[in-house]
Amino acid sequence: MHASLRQRIPWSRINWVTSAFLAVINILSIVAVPLYIWRFGLDWFQVGLFLFFYIATGLSITLGYHRLFSHLSFKAKLPVRLTTLIFGACAFENSVLDWSSDHRKHHKFVDHEDDPYDISKGFLWAHIGWLFFKLTPETMDNVADLKRDRLVMWQHRWCIPIAFVVGFALPTFLGYLWNGWAGALGAFLLAGVFRVFLVQHCTFFINSLCHTIGKQPYSSRHTARDSAIMALFTFGEGYHNYHHEFQHDYRNGVKPSNFDPTKWTIWALEKVGLVSNLRRVPAEKILLAEMTEARRRAEEKNHHSETIATILGQQAHQTFAHLSERLAANYAALEKAMAEQAEISRKVIENWRRETRQLVAILADLDRRLPQPA
Ligand SMILES: [Zn+2]
Ligand SMILES: [Zn+2]
Repeated sequence: MHASLRQRIPWSRINWVTSAFLAVINILSIVAVPLYIWRFGLDWFQVGLFLFFYIATGLSITLGYHRLFSHLSFKAKLPVRLTTLIFGACAFENSVLDWSSDHRKHHKFVDHEDDPYDISKGFLWAHIGWLFFKLTPETMDNVADLKRDRLVMWQHRWCIPIAFVVGFALPTFLGYLWNGWAGALGAFLLAGVFRVFLVQHCTFFINSLCHTIGKQPYSSRHTARDSAIMALFTFGEGYHNYHHEFQHDYRNGVKPSNFDPTKWTIWALEKVGLVSNLRRVPAEKILLAEMTEARRRAEEKNHHSETIATILGQQAHQTFAHLSERLAANYAALEKAMAEQAEISRKVIENWRRETRQLVAILADLDRRLPQPA
């Protein structure tokens, strides 16, 4: 290792237990899992067990740890709370109390020093690097509500035993029942180790890739981005720009067409009476955010009126000017209606939204065609 790098690492702050655990999970997943499959192959039981544990832990993080406990975006009855606390522990991402405290800091101080997974410190830091070190000082003053919850405190106390028993011992035992020691080893490696590896990296991607790739339709005041591709890997959490603007909404993919299995699960649980009080940001408030962002971007480009005409052609330039004017008028009308608490029809909102998105599409086209700085 380079001498200066060795000096730069704050050795006294390294979290050895977490670092060693992450190293073992990652090495086993990359080396032992393929070796096992090569030697023993896969059967439907192993695949099914893996999928069950993958979905149960993944959803417990997104639906439970994230949207329920960190953001209080809906209320849940005991079976949902208990299930998500138990399987959430099995992701080995710490107790919900610790997780929520870090996550609330991330929202409050996003992209700044006190953001635990601050992307401005680099992609690797936001993805996994931050976990290798202990935060100093570790404050937990933002989770007073969760500390009053006895179930949360129970999970906080027993989190690691739960994770080992339910997350590793249980699938291993089921694998043994299915196919002796080979079955046990397979279940441990696939439904245990490899599943933890995948769920963890999907969570980490939200902090790294979702602050790096994608669009920013609701705000560019922070680095969070919307990405449909990321949503595929993260149970719908890829719509991170929307989420940072409206963190208390139970939906991350707010459009009906958005791939957000966590949202669908919450919706279905409401239908069977297991959850209630789903929080939704009103459509006009979301539109106002979209319009504000579109206006900011259009104004930026307005100074380069000639460039627009040269690059996109005269007609596109006229459309651009027309839509910019429409946006300013629509914005004023929406702001006035909201101040007066007047009812705005769905059709009008749809119309305004369509015009805003047309303008954004032109802006995106322009950005694509503008010569990139070398
Ligand atoms: Zn974020
Ligand atoms: Zn969040």
